[in-house]
Amino acid sequence: MIANLIVGMLCVHLLCFAAMFWLISTRLQENKLGMNAFAVGNAMLGSAYVLQLLGGPPDWEALSVVNHTLTLCVPLVYAVGALRFFGRPTPLLQPVLALALAYTVAQALVQWLAGPVARYAMLSFASALMFLAMTGGVVHAMRNVAIDLRVEMTLFALLIGGLAVLNLIKGVLVAQGGLQALDMGNRFQIGFYIYMSFLATVLAPSMIWLVLRRLTDALRATAARDPLTQLLNRRGLLAGLEAYFRTRAAAPARLVMLDIDHFKRINDSYGHQAGDLVLSQVAEVLRQTLRRGDLASRTGGEEFVAVCLGVDDGGVLQLAERLRAAIERQEVRLPGVQGPVRCTVTVGVSLPFDGLKGLEAAMQQADAALYRGKQAGRNRVELGHSGGGDPEVAPRASPA
Ligand code: GH3
Ligand code: MG
Ligand code: MG
Repeated sequence: MIANLIVGMLCVHLLCFAAMFWLISTRLQENKLGMNAFAVGNAMLGSAYVLQLLGGPPDWEALSVVNHTLTLCVPLVYAVGALRFFGRPTPLLQPVLALALAYTVAQALVQWLAGPVARYAMLSFASALMFLAMTGGVVHAMRNVAIDLRVEMTLFALLIGGLAVLNLIKGVLVAQGGLQALDMGNRFQIGFYIYMSFLATVLAPSMIWLVLRRLTDALRATAARDPLTQLLNRRGLLAGLEAYFRTRAAAPARLVMLDIDHFKRINDSYGHQAGDLVLSQVAEVLRQTLRRGDLASRTGGEEFVAVCLGVDDGGVLQLAERLRAAIERQEVRLPGVQGPVRCTVTVGVSLPFDGLKGLEAAMQQADAALYRGKQAGRNRVELGHSGGGDPEVAPRASPA
């Protein structure tokens, strides 16, 4: 009676979360993060338990064959969901149909050759094997694709591993004690279904938590990037700097501000799309030329800001000059235009600053230096100074 009550509650729980997973999956457009597969898995397991409640005592009947096949396919469906969650597109229908067919045939054979006890024991052992493989999969994922989810994955591995052990014990009990071991009133069965309920209660919200984490991470990443060049935008640059200055040993940073020379002419001569292509190429040069750990951003139309971390005046001027020269060398092929197009940039470099409070002043220094560079003929690097726009004290680095 108690076990039946637990199984009944388990059905309601599984089917409700199946509906919730499905609703979530309908809200996700391209990457459904495996939610559709988890919905199918929950619906199958929920249906298997409904059949169990309807079927009465274990025996050879069509209902129990369907129930066993559904039960065994569920771990496979969840595994497909997990693979999809980690970005591996995996088919669902074919492998599940193949397993369902193979297992139904196996059930008929075992029932015919060895009787119902062997068929029930086979389900427990086969389930134990599936859950053991899933536990291995989770441990493997922990080391490779889910490094940021170690705590959650450890919990999953323990819970699924527990399920493998319980199924193993159930298989042994059935093999030794026959179908009486499956009596819903016996202590092992009650314990088994309490564990299943606990698992369903813990796993379903955990899945939603994982999806929420992935979505908020993706949202944050999108909000921090410029869609055209995939460089950081102003918000992303600020967040990157904030994270950098939070580390205790943060060395001072310097801003390198670049503005494409006569960019309007490129737009006017070749069109806006060609202009976008030039912007993407300049962004690519920035990505390739900056050192690891430096931040690259597009802060305005044809204006870029790099943050160089832990370099002195000489180092940052060298880097700025390397950037300028690399952009000048870069040839951009535009569709429908004969021969490559080139562009140049004027670069303003700030003095060092060692906290977010100094950012505004550094921006002004770099901006003023950039302005001086434009005035002095463009395609050059200028180092800023604490006086902002005063040109008298500006040291100058001329292009090579
Ligand atoms: P200067 O050498 O003084 O910097 O001259 P400039 O022509 O580069 O500067 P100006 O500010 O006069 O023109 C910038 C142009 O950049 C004007 C604007 O249409 C263009 N622009 C801004 N954002 C984008 C964009 O996302 N794509 C394209 N293709 N053009 C853009
Ligand atoms: Mg410009
Ligand atoms: Mg500009």
